[in-house]
Amino acid sequence: MTRLDLGIPGLRRDPAAPPSTVGRPDVPGLVDRFGRQARDLRVSITEKCSLRCTYCMPEAGLPAIARDDLLSAVEIARLVHIAVRDLGVHDIRFTGGEPLMRADLAEILARSSAVAGGASISMTTNGIGLDHRIRELVDAGLTRINISLDTVDRDHFARLTRRDRLPAVFAGIRAAKEAGLTPLKINAVLMRDTLAGAADLLAWSLENGVRLRFIEQMPLDADEAWARDNMVDAAELLDVLGGRFELSRPHRDDPSAPAEEWLVDGGPATVGVIASVTRSFCEACDRTRITAEGTVRSCLFGDEETDLRGLLRGGADDRDIADRWRAAMWVKQAGHGMGRTDFVRPKRSMGAIGG
Ligand code: SAM
Ligand code: SF4
Repeated sequence: MTRLDLGIPGLRRDPAAPPSTVGRPDVPGLVDRFGRQARDLRVSITEKCSLRCTYCMPEAGLPAIARDDLLSAVEIARLVHIAVRDLGVHDIRFTGGEPLMRADLAEILARSSAVAGGASISMTTNGIGLDHRIRELVDAGLTRINISLDTVDRDHFARLTRRDRLPAVFAGIRAAKEAGLTPLKINAVLMRDTLAGAADLLAWSLENGVRLRFIEQMPLDADEAWARDNMVDAAELLDVLGGRFELSRPHRDDPSAPAEEWLVDGGPATVGVIASVTRSFCEACDRTRITAEGTVRSCLFGDEETDLRGLLRGGADDRDIADRWRAAMWVKQAGHGMGRTDFVRPKRSMGAIGG
């Protein structure tokens, strides 16, 4: 497989040529041509990972990004500051790759939370090694965390992630709970071979007081094994869970939230289903993404990226950076098009974008 096949770009866009802003109203927020405004920022901080989940990474891992090409803690915090102060962002989530692979994660969090105003600072992680670092991360400003866990069966976990690390994930989950990062959300990717263990995972989540959400698998695996025909959808999952639990819809339901929540056995516990493929929520999407190398990505599925690192390092002032970011988001595409026959996979895989 070549470097290009793995989705690590040679740059897609000349950083000197910003996207067109024709028709864009003169407003501060990250608005786009379809009336949406991005307020939720995902910042990927590394391509490295301690696991090799088959739905995400290639077996050998992603090609390493040169250290100098990664945004530094200072650069990340500067972008967070601009996002919150000038662009109307109010949620910041660090992701990757695996954020815990960055030795300076606490510094990234501390510098970012110092300039984040009231914005929330959260992280999506596989939880490995979290127990050793949770105190410094909470002290640095981490307020919420999502931990990814697809199965509670050790052999299955080892096959799925190509690493026998389930006990380490459990230790991370325990540490997060003990540190008060609750309600703790658990993300599970829905796959054909995890379906059989889905009810066990829900039972474990209920016992351990964590909020489980299943996510339909998207065609963002580096191995390109995803096939629409073989995909497990939300309906099939609900059927399986319904065999063991009584599922009912809660009274309150936010139609713009990606997760559809179900009460389990009358509640109060819930299980969420994020039907990213079969129930597109693109029309309500409020995300903007920064890759580990400092490009803005307006959509998981759009390969158009706009470089901010060049501006950060080239002496641009905050106003120029904010304008370039606004321009990048103005041209955000309408939707992912996964159901269309002309759908083309993005060049980057999930681990190279930041989920
Ligand atoms: N390493 C961290 C983790 O696993 O939580 C953060 C990065 S990971 C790319 C972020 C989220 O994307 C995880 O919850 C993971 O399960 C999810 N993910 C990865 N590949 C996916 C795919 N092909 N479809 C749907 N979700 C995916
Ligand atoms: Fe690593 Fe997260 Fe991708 Fe799994 S989903 S390979 S833990 S980045």
